[in-house]
Amino acid sequence: MIDYNYHTHTFRCGHATGTEREYIEAAIACGIKVLGFSDHIIFEHKDEKSKEKFYDYIKTINELKEEYKDKIEIHLGFECEHSSDRVDYYKYLLKEKGIEYLILGQHFALDKKGEKLDLFENSNNRHKITKYYYKFVKKGLKSGLYSYLAHPDLFTREYIDIDKTYIKYARKVCNAAKKYNVPIEINLNGLYYKKTRNLPGLTYPCETFFKIAGDVGNDVMVGIDCHAPDLVTNADFEWAENIISKYNLHHITRLEFKK
Ligand SMILES: [Zn+2]
Ligand SMILES: [Zn+2]
Repeated sequence: MIDYNYHTHTFRCGHATGTEREYIEAAIACGIKVLGFSDHIIFEHKDEKSKEKFYDYIKTINELKEEYKDKIEIHLGFECEHSSDRVDYYKYLLKEKGIEYLILGQHFALDKKGEKLDLFENSNNRHKITKYYYKFVKKGLKSGLYSYLAHPDLFTREYIDIDKTYIKYARKVCNAAKKYNVPIEINLNGLYYKKTRNLPGLTYPCETFFKIAGDVGNDVMVGIDCHAPDLVTNADFEWAENIISKYNLHHITRLEFKK
């Protein structure tokens, strides 16, 4: 039985619904003992609105942490992309703002010319996106800033079938996570969309990717990546547990916080 989830969004990110309290109540109802909030990164210094959002997020979670301490263990984090110009800010969050952990969710990459490649925009350039995605993820893993790698197989979205490049880069991502000792996530939000929407092509979590992770010997964690409180209730933990046992993956059930 999976009793943790460190990948939770809230209404604050703009594309999720539900308050922190609603997520906590849903988590308690399904037997979750440890719940981590990892909303999309908020840049405190961007403008007044961001600053307000940033402090409100921290304050709300810290208050709820105290209020619910006898029922559930709550943690405060962010999901963020790696890029070299953000490293100082992320360090500041961890060292000075009481952010307990960061998870790496690389939703974009930049190519050689600095052009943005968006992993949510299905393009005809899957090999290029895969290559730059890996480049950014590898740097992120190496930085030591992140407690786990969310949806490591996000680039699967670009594919309609598995090809040699896919396999090559899946292995590279797994090898880098292994080398830098960062667990990779089986993302249940992707699974939910796969089951409920008629998506063209493949999407994550991709079984082939986790078969490779099994060969490499990766540590894995399961993340609901919930964008609505009822997605906590509907999380298909069984699917993840089957993948973990089928490919002999090493299941980490508590996150290690980087200092
Ligand atoms: Zn994400
Ligand atoms: Zn997420």
